[in-house]
Amino acid sequence: MTVSTAITDIGSLVTNDPSLSSADNPLGTVRDAAVVIEGDRVVWTGASSKAPTTDNRVDAGGRALLPGFVDSHAHLVFAGDRAAEFAARMSGQPYAAGGIRTTVAATRAASDAELAGNLARLLAEARRQGTTTVEVKSGYGLTVHDEARALRIAAGQTPETTYLGAHVVAPEFADDPAGYVALVTGPMLDACAPHARWVDVFCEEGAFDGDQARAVLEAGAARGLTPRVHANQLGHGPGVRLAVELGAASADHCTHLTDADVDALASGQTVATLLPGAEFSTRAAYPDARRLLDAGATVALSTDCNPGSSYTSSMAFCVAVAVRDMGMTPDEAVRAATLGGARALRRTDVGTVAPGARADLHLLDAPTHVHLAYRPGVPLTAAVWQAGERVRPQYPAG
Ligand SMILES: [Zn+2]
Repeated sequence: MTVSTAITDIGSLVTNDPSLSSADNPLGTVRDAAVVIEGDRVVWTGASSKAPTTDNRVDAGGRALLPGFVDSHAHLVFAGDRAAEFAARMSGQPYAAGGIRTTVAATRAASDAELAGNLARLLAEARRQGTTTVEVKSGYGLTVHDEARALRIAAGQTPETTYLGAHVVAPEFADDPAGYVALVTGPMLDACAPHARWVDVFCEEGAFDGDQARAVLEAGAARGLTPRVHANQLGHGPGVRLAVELGAASADHCTHLTDADVDALASGQTVATLLPGAEFSTRAAYPDARRLLDAGATVALSTDCNPGSSYTSSMAFCVAVAVRDMGMTPDEAVRAATLGGARALRRTDVGTVAPGARADLHLLDAPTHVHLAYRPGVPLTAAVWQAGERVRPQYPAG
């Protein structure tokens, strides 16, 4: 028998339900609300006073409830960390190129159990902060064996796995980038495709140019992997327009955009995923979310969690920075961190709290979602449900 649970007395419920949204209420927010979950699904939302009878009941005590965060961009299969490199950078020492190679070496040397354990630890860390869907990329193996291993390990813990053999040119191919692209589009793809849903490429000067990126994405697409692109992070380039042209689910970073890039994102099906943790951690200028939103692009916020340039798993932190420094309103930032991420992963079952959605819920120790930006750095997560299962049971105590 499926057990039903009602969460009642929700002060402010963010639904992202289009049938409840309007110009005045973009998040489809319901006051004094209740949500009923049955098994792994939401089956009812509405006024708390009208909640149906259920097996169990949780009194939210006037707190805010929102969809679990959807983190659509993270690099979590790795070993070691790069705290010393970060400290040196923050001390004003020039950035030493090749930091990523430190992580590649540590990752290749690690056992399967170490990599799986580190991934599980980071996913649990994210969940404790309200994140219930996480995309995980490979990209620190850069050999056929190590990339396939990373994706096999990732696929054991999340369905959103991305083949990023084209993260940087592997050190062994430093003098033969064309040979590395041939590997990434050939034997490495053969080994990785069974464990991946997406294919990604770092299209940037110093990584892969437009032609190489196109080759990687088209080869992946021919094997059933949908493209997503690391695009326009460090400078202008062809990444965003290539992503839109190839129907990529997402163009990620979008920090340096021309008007043509913005127009392409606004008129295409590709989500603009912004990753403020990377700019924060490298003291770089933030992307202009306001420009993208005003043009009509769909915007997502994600952590880019990785040991080199953005070692945060906190979506709430990204929301706060996006509001403070990227021109987003609190409503827009929360929407981008939930529904936006779902769109970037082409998921319709997450990012909303509506009948039929997966029961991924985030209860805040705050009266509204605005507090995520208003109270930066404060651990506001009171409870989390993932697919209907209570995974953070701190509230109510006992
Ligand atoms: Zn990334």
